[in-house]
Amino acid sequence: MILEGKKVVIMGIRNKWSIAWGAAKSAYEQGAQVIFTHNAAESEDKVQALISEIPGSKSYPCDAGSDESIRKCLESIKKDFGKVDGILHSIAHAFTDDLRNDFINTSREGYAHACDISAYSFVATARIAKELDMLNEGASFVTFTYFGSEKVMEGYNVMGVAKAALETSIKYMAKDLGKEGYRVNAVSAGPIKTLSAKGIKDFGSILDVVEQRAPLHANVTTKQVGDVTAFLFSNLASAVTGEVIHADNGFNVTGI
Ligand code: NAP
Repeated sequence: MILEGKKVVIMGIRNKWSIAWGAAKSAYEQGAQVIFTHNAAESEDKVQALISEIPGSKSYPCDAGSDESIRKCLESIKKDFGKVDGILHSIAHAFTDDLRNDFINTSREGYAHACDISAYSFVATARIAKELDMLNEGASFVTFTYFGSEKVMEGYNVMGVAKAALETSIKYMAKDLGKEGYRVNAVSAGPIKTLSAKGIKDFGSILDVVEQRAPLHANVTTKQVGDVTAFLFSNLASAVTGEVIHADNGFNVTGI
């Protein structure tokens, strides 16, 4: 088990379809103690019922749009569990109108909101975790991104811009946090039917195209993405930082 003795924080659990849930299951199967955070606006009871499937886990409310909320959440985790070895950021949000309309119509507010929640919150989380001195030696930060940052994907719009900001942020974060020996990486997941994905127009046709054209002719599962995340949390990835690893059955390499 590659995560034996490690403690990892999984931020962004919503329901059993969440990629965060796949990541939690992989981490647990690999021996990690799993700690969750959920959107402060979410029903506490629903989240607690879900995570009870993972023995010893606990979830803490966290609003990714507030440094104060992130700090409070991480402080509580440190108080209850001590230092941790990994933090997964599995959080994104854009206004529905900005995903339904042409990208050119994105409002100033919508552009800032998508980048704030989906990209800046990862930077804030890593900085606050470091300030709180809650990271064990060799700690690893992971976030989730999507191919819509690299190429135009119908309906992904401002979220593609936010993911591009996220992917560039990890490079600068890797440089800064590398001084302490911490690593920062992203997993670029293939499309998966989750609650967030429902906001994207014609998402079903994206799944069909991936199945037809990806070298492995299938869509990925949350567990497959979780397994790559577990690898990045583990000592097996001790030389990997500032990287975006595609877990997309190879779709990103496909041309004509
Ligand atoms: P999901 O289950 O809906 O997870 C998204 C999470 O972000 C939810 O728990 C959501 O909570 C949380 N969130 C949104 N705004 C927040 C805020 N202000 N504060 C705290 N939490 C907030 O969907 P998912 O597809 O698993 O998404 C997880 C990550 O994977 C996202 O970064 C997404 O962009 C990325 N990703 C998804 C796909 C895909 O096809 N599904 C592909 C590649 C990458 P609420 O629902 O309660 O707001």
